[in-house]
Amino acid sequence: MSHHHVVIIGSGPAGLTAAIYAARANLHPLVVEGEPSSTSDQPGGQLMLTTDVENFPGFPEGIMGPDLMMKFREQSQRFGAEFLTEKVTAVDFSDRPFRISIRDRHITADAVIISTGAQSLMLGLEAESRLLGYGLSTCATCDGFFFRGQEIAVAGGGDSAVEEAVFLTKFAAKVTMIHRRDTLRASKIMQERAFNNPKIEIMWNTVIDDLVGESKLEGAVVHDVVTGKVSTLPVTGLFVAIGHRPNTDLFKGILDMEDNGYLITRPGSSYTNVPGVFACGDVQDHTYRQAITAAGSGCMAAIDCERWLEAGH
Ligand code: NAP
Repeated sequence: MSHHHVVIIGSGPAGLTAAIYAARANLHPLVVEGEPSSTSDQPGGQLMLTTDVENFPGFPEGIMGPDLMMKFREQSQRFGAEFLTEKVTAVDFSDRPFRISIRDRHITADAVIISTGAQSLMLGLEAESRLLGYGLSTCATCDGFFFRGQEIAVAGGGDSAVEEAVFLTKFAAKVTMIHRRDTLRASKIMQERAFNNPKIEIMWNTVIDDLVGESKLEGAVVHDVVTGKVSTLPVTGLFVAIGHRPNTDLFKGILDMEDNGYLITRPGSSYTNVPGVFACGDVQDHTYRQAITAAGSGCMAAIDCERWLEAGH
């Protein structure tokens, strides 16, 4: 069993920014970064699944998502952050030092920063892993710009799907919303926005069965659940917007969370309900979900953590 001043669980933009700040504050953080084989716990977080990132400040030419995360990681290591490429299997925050288990091994910490992120729900098609970042996306804010003048689609019928579809009409020639039922789940005001947008068409009662294209998306094979008719929608972009899931299973019954599983932090801070446990990034933010906002909240968590330890806790 090893003891650490600060343990950071998760290594996306939030966790690695927390690591940079904590390391520079001489807190010698240990980052338990996750396991490469896993989609929910993979080191580097969701940016490892993207290609070009053009909206992260400081990279005027853009940068590949995995390259950006490697730079974050190297920057934290430069100041002494240590890494454990493992997946946390249990936590015990009932008293201090906090206990973090990795299968049958345990580490202890004076303070913990949680940055386990969230994952976009996917359709569950085999082709998704091949085409993610190559026409298939889970973030319109990030990737919409790449689809100027093109015909694209959005999967889903909730507020996120409408929001993404409306946003995408700024770039695309046409956006087809593919929804599995005959009514949208989105709020009335959002529905109106979709109905009133001349660039948005809604394909009702439609399920996506497969994606076409080897190295980039060329279309979506769909079927109408009422008529049974199968067709291929020729689109060069598909945005999956069927919801997100925060990676908080580890903390159920331990930390306060909203009904949808997102950790609750005290407004304007990274404090959770357990003193000494801080949370940052997408695990506690279902509104912005950007690398830059996650990084900003990681900085907040490291500063909150440092001040909390400095106060003699
Ligand atoms: P959501 O409300 O859960 O909607 C998910 C949508 O995806 C539903 O229409 C659902 O279909 C569809 N879906 C789910 N699984 C699917 C699958 N396997 N295949 C095909 N379709 C599938 O999720 P969300 O839109 O991400 O919103 C999450 C929360 O954030 C909501 O409370 C929402 O109001 C809020 N939000 C608000 C705003 C805003 O106000 N501006 C923007 C974004 C999000 P069914 O309808 O058939 O279930």
